[in-house]
Amino acid sequence: MTFSDLGLSRTILKAIQEKGYEIPTPIQQKAIPVVLRKKDLLGVAQTGTGKTAAFAIPIIQRLERSEQCNGIRAIIVTPTRELAIQIEENIQAYAKFTNLRHAVIFGGVKQHNQVKQLQKGVDILVATPGRLLDLMDQGCISLDKIEVFVLDEADRMLDMGFIHDIKKLLKFLPAKRQSLFFSATMPKNIVQLSRQILHQPDRVEVTPQSTTAETVKQVVYFTNRPSKKSLMLHLLNNSEMDQILVFSRTKHGADRLARDLSKKKIKAAAIHGDKAQNQRQKSLKNFKSGQLRVLVATDIAARGIDIDKLSYVINYDIPNIPETYVHRIGRVGRAGETGTAISICEPEENTYLKEIEKLIKQKIPAMNDHPFPQTDKPMTAQEKKEWEKEKQRRKQEFFKNRNKD
Ligand code: AMP
Repeated sequence: MTFSDLGLSRTILKAIQEKGYEIPTPIQQKAIPVVLRKKDLLGVAQTGTGKTAAFAIPIIQRLERSEQCNGIRAIIVTPTRELAIQIEENIQAYAKFTNLRHAVIFGGVKQHNQVKQLQKGVDILVATPGRLLDLMDQGCISLDKIEVFVLDEADRMLDMGFIHDIKKLLKFLPAKRQSLFFSATMPKNIVQLSRQILHQPDRVEVTPQSTTAETVKQVVYFTNRPSKKSLMLHLLNNSEMDQILVFSRTKHGADRLARDLSKKKIKAAAIHGDKAQNQRQKSLKNFKSGQLRVLVATDIAARGIDIDKLSYVINYDIPNIPETYVHRIGRVGRAGETGTAISICEPEENTYLKEIEKLIKQKIPAMNDHPFPQTDKPMTAQEKKEWEKEKQRRKQEFFKNRNKD
């Protein structure tokens, strides 16, 4: 199947060609016709499957063909700033040869420029929930003219504590509208939310629930906590690993690791919620351009990162929420590229790893041939005490992060 088989307009086909896409990805093949028919859609898809184009392209086509009015006609709500920026970049590319106006709004920066942009008139708005509600409260945004509503990354949205914002937002949307709902996983609370939003939707699923991208090679290195950094440096000796996204559960951990790597002359930076927006964008830009070899990110900050041909992800910590692992490794092997996800596991994280393996229904192969193998020396009383404290800290960090934009 080609993009022209999907009944897309000449302007869109030209933009797609400029992007260099040759064939539509499975979610695009399935979702585009549904959205063009103005039906509601429940999309179960991981990031990296091409889902942004799957909703953005038909929305652009729909709006291109309907009359322009003085109001926002499509709104895409997504959990993080990075994701919001990326979606708008995609819209800009696909709508390049149309007259449609688009904008992106997110928190963490002054609202002045965003408000100015909105005043000029916008057809398609991409937004994070907090800033959207804020500007609605101030009377800068009206959703009366919305024809299409997209809720992106719904599971992540709920993980981050946005449920009340979403419910509030729903009250302001016109009852007569097309709604598209995307989520990587479909636990019960997401199914319930989707029922409140969608009307007789078509369901499109591209990867079975909570399976990991097939193109990602996964391995685990078992070691002890004090050896993690040395093992990391050992792994980085491999010069083939030119661009690596490293996950750290905590902001402090991310900063510390980036600092330690820099001391060893490895070009690294950390991104997380405490860094200013422009700092985060700068690090991301430097990473994308190859000036940085390693980007250390927390889960939430990394959520929207989309880097062409990213081949390596390293889990410096094993996430205590198994779904997080699926999200993390979804960063590589995007749109058919191959990639490797390496996990570094200390004894106290062995149970987290087991939970992940249960969720993804596969055993992650262990790489035993390395200089820092895990020893099963029992923890000393002091280490035990520290580990209990650490567990407590991780729990708190997790709950704190849930409420962050
Ligand atoms: P997404 O899942 O929307 O984040 O997309 C993942 C990546 O795949 C992005 O870098 C897109 O630019 C790219 N992509 C989307 N559709 C296609 C396609 N049909 N062919 C090749 N790459 C694509």
